[in-house]
Formats: sequence, structure tokens, C-alpha cells
Amino acid sequence: MDALRFDNAFVRDLPGDPEAGPRLRQVEGAAWSPVAPTPVAKPRLLAWTPDLAARLGFSEAAVTSPAFAEVFGGNRLLPGMQPFAANYGGHQFGHWAGQLGDGRAITLGEVVDAGGARWELQLKGAGPTPYSRMADGRAVLRSSIREFLCSEAMHHLGVPTTRALSLVGTGEQVVRDMFYDGHPREEPGAIVCRVAPSFLRFGSFELPFSRGDATLLRRLADFCIARDFPHLSGSGEALYADWFADVCTRTAGLVAHWMRVGFVHGVLNTDNMSILGLTIDYGPYGWIDDYDPDWTPNTTDAQVRRYRFGWQPRIAQWNLLRLAHALSPLFADTAPLQAGLDRYVAAFEAAEQATIAAKLGLSACREDDVARMRELHVWMHGAEVDMTLFFRALAEVDMAAAAPDPAPLDDAFYDPGKREAALPVLREWLARLGARVREDGRDPARRRAAMDAANPKYVLRNYLAQQAIDLAEQGDLSGVHALQEVLRKPYDAQPGREAYVGKRPDWARDRPGCSTLSCSS
Ligand code: AMP
Ligand code: MG
Repeated sequence: MDALRFDNAFVRDLPGDPEAGPRLRQVEGAAWSPVAPTPVAKPRLLAWTPDLAARLGFSEAAVTSPAFAEVFGGNRLLPGMQPFAANYGGHQFGHWAGQLGDGRAITLGEVVDAGGARWELQLKGAGPTPYSRMADGRAVLRSSIREFLCSEAMHHLGVPTTRALSLVGTGEQVVRDMFYDGHPREEPGAIVCRVAPSFLRFGSFELPFSRGDATLLRRLADFCIARDFPHLSGSGEALYADWFADVCTRTAGLVAHWMRVGFVHGVLNTDNMSILGLTIDYGPYGWIDDYDPDWTPNTTDAQVRRYRFGWQPRIAQWNLLRLAHALSPLFADTAPLQAGLDRYVAAFEAAEQATIAAKLGLSACREDDVARMRELHVWMHGAEVDMTLFFRALAEVDMAAAAPDPAPLDDAFYDPGKREAALPVLREWLARLGARVREDGRDPARRRAAMDAANPKYVLRNYLAQQAIDLAEQGDLSGVHALQEVLRKPYDAQPGREAYVGKRPDWARDRPGCSTLSCSS
């Protein structure tokens, strides 16, 4: 473990706060503040990610040694680590919120792996920083398990994301009022080590812009391009324009993936938008069970539902507009920024069309296929149909028949009455899709393989995560480990693991953690 190679570019190349330690403060003219993790009582490794550990250069023996839990529980630093909290701002629920920063995250350092790739190691829940505002800088086991499992599930689904190396229990209790309703309780604390090439966010650029600090803004932009976008070349405004367009393209791809797999981020504030287009800051996220574009798991957003499933594409666009605004001092006029925003629209449309073709099993997406998918979505919403089960089973419907039999889709319905009422429309829709598939003329086996690669069989349904959490809070990590295993191959049939495929059971419909979550974690 002592042989890891650290190259801490962020603290080396960007201005830091002259004051060290967690005293709460406004930090001006600096991108980071030096602050060490606060030691915990009894760090214990609860789960870890073998392929990521190997990639970073940790042997199994190193990960399972007591020293690993000490380091990734925040009690010890390795040679070369330079812990800091990053400074950033953000728009929260549509309003400028000023300085936010890493209030419960501390970066330990940047590891360069054997292949030359750079990985920032960051502890989430490692204690107070200058940015902790009213809170304690800690994280509870329940939220840490959710982040640990979901970031890895997303990675294996092929969705860009920060990753999770380890889950360490702190041996300490954390007090949380889970629903902000005056019923605080003690919960076990935990720390996730999350890993990404960069944790820069849209809000990292918005903060210096809001303060009129063009010098820091430019330094951040230059640093980000050099470290995180090394494939871009050129200089000056043209380079900034290419960079912004790249961010827009990545963001479009990211959101298209979320819509494909049925993921609802839940808190798409601009401080939770990664400049690399990664899914970041897993909080009150959720997975679509019955298809409902208006659903959000986040109780904090229950009234407006700004961050509902179906609005994610337009919210990402709004967030990019905020970023464009923040970057405007780098440009003489707004045309390059507008070009980037246009790129978002075009890239999202292209990605959405590719998704439609893949999910329906067509070799390409035509205009009538876009309409076909929209029609299906409306029907699924009205008929209360499970998104994951429906698309996965669609590959089983025999499209050679003039009137395809919808029987393989039976399992996807939640309500037998709604199913009866909705079947005629489904039959008709399937007949038209069948004609289209026959016209497309693809080999059925290849069609099926392509559909299975776009329509996951296993996703981290909210109730599955909650069941693993309930067990873990009793000290039994087997549910977490089992989910970790299943979610490593989300597109494969995994015989014997049918328990992870079923639709949301009735008891989970309105249970906290299964259908509703708050930002309090
Ligand atoms: P999030 O909703 O996780 O994006 O957090 C929004 C802001 O609140 C960020 O600046 C976080 O660092 C901060 N924050 C959230 N939870 C805590 C906590 N338990 N302790 C300190 N800061 C927190
Ligand atoms: Mg955040």
C-alpha cells in the first residue's frame, strides 16, 4: 500500500486556502482548503471493490489488512497523501446558493495507476471541513451503502459514474433526522472511498464567477482542460470552446443513459454535475419501477418535483446554461457557448435515438420509431407497467407472428385490472412493431443479443437496496455482498438469482427508503 504513486496535481497547481483545519469560513481566491479526516473509533472494512482495487494497485492482502481500514476510515494517511476539501458553489433547486464546497468529503490524493491513469481518492463522511456549514461532515451507513452499491452498479451498466473502492464502518453513531420531521435517531456511521479522475463540478466554476474572480476562474479552466481533457489541443478561446462543447456532449450522453436504465438522480443541483459527465453525489436517487416520468424519490423535492425522471434532460440543459454563464468571462462573445449548448441538444437527440433503436431491437431509429417509443411511454405510464421488466421481456415476444403474443410481458404489470384494460392497445402496438421488425429484417438472435445489451435484467431497485441496508444495520453484510455480486453483470441472465429480478413488492410501495428518501444523509 505504501508503494502507491501519488501525484497531487490539484493542490500543486491550484491556489489553496492559507488556513488549515475545519473552522467554518468563506474561502476566497482558493480552490481548496487543507483539512485532514477526523479519526474514528473503530474503523472496519465492510465491503470493497476487487477490480477497482486491483486497478489502483492494491493487493487483496493490502485491502483486507487492518491498515487499509485505518486509512480509508480516516485514521491514518499514506506517504504522499495531501488531504483537502474542494471549494465550489452551486445552484440548488434553481437558486444560487453561494459557497457550498466539500462539507463531508475529503480528497486524500491522486493516484497514478500502472497504466498512467489518474484517480482521485476521496473519503465521503470523514468529518468536518471549512465547508460543513451547519452539519457534521459524517455519513450514515444507510446512505453509504446506497452510494457504494449504486455507483458500482452504474459502472457495470455502462453509465459514466464516480466509483466506490471501499465501505468502512466507523464504529461511531451519527444522529440524523431522516425526514426532517423532528424525530432524530442515532444511526451507525460509515465512510465510502469514492474514486474518479476528477471531482470538479459545474459549481467549481460558478463560485469564482459569482465573486468576479476571473483569475481563479481561468486557472481552474486551464487546469481542468490540462488534467481532465488531455485529448483537447489548441489554445485560447478555441480551446475553451472545444472544452465546453465536450462537456455538453458528455452531459448529453450521461442523461441519455439515465433515461435508458431508469435512474433518477434526485438532486441535480449544479454542484452535483460533474465536469466529466459522470454520475456524482449519490443521495436520494431512485430507480424507476412502474414507468412514471413524474416520479422523484426525493421528499425534499416532493412539491415541485423539479428533479423528476422525465425532466432530467431539460434540467441538465438548464445546468449547462448556468455553466455557460459562469464561463462567459473566458469568451469575447457568446457564440461559442451557444454552439456548445446546441451541441447538447443534438447529442442528446442522437443518443436518445440510439437508445430507442437498441431498446426496441431495431438496426436504426427512424422518425416513426421516436413516435412509437413516445406512444409506448404514455401507455406504460397509464397501464402501470414495470420499466425494467417490460423492456427485458420485449425481446421474448415473437415478432415473426402477424399478431405477436404479449404473454412474455405479463409479469411487468402491477395491477391486473389495468392490465386487462391496457391489453388491446398493447396488442395493436406490438403488431405495428412486429411489422417494423420484419421490415428491418434483422437476424432474430442478433436482435435479441442487441436488446439484452441495452435492457438490463438487474438494476438496484430501491427496495433491494433497503433490504440489504436493514440487514447491514443488524451487522449482517451478506445482503450488500450479494447485491454487489449480482449487479456486476446486469445484462446477463444469472440462473438462481431470480429473487433480484422481480418487480417491487407491495410492501415497498410507500416505505421510506424504498419509494421516498430525503437529502438528509
Ligand atoms: P449534497 O446534497 O450531498 O450535494 O450536499 C449539498 C451540500 O451540503 C454540499 O456542500 C455538501 O458538502 C453539504 N453537506 C451535505 N451533508 C453534509 C454533512 N453531513 N456534513 C457536512 N456537509 C454536508
Ligand atoms: Mg453535492
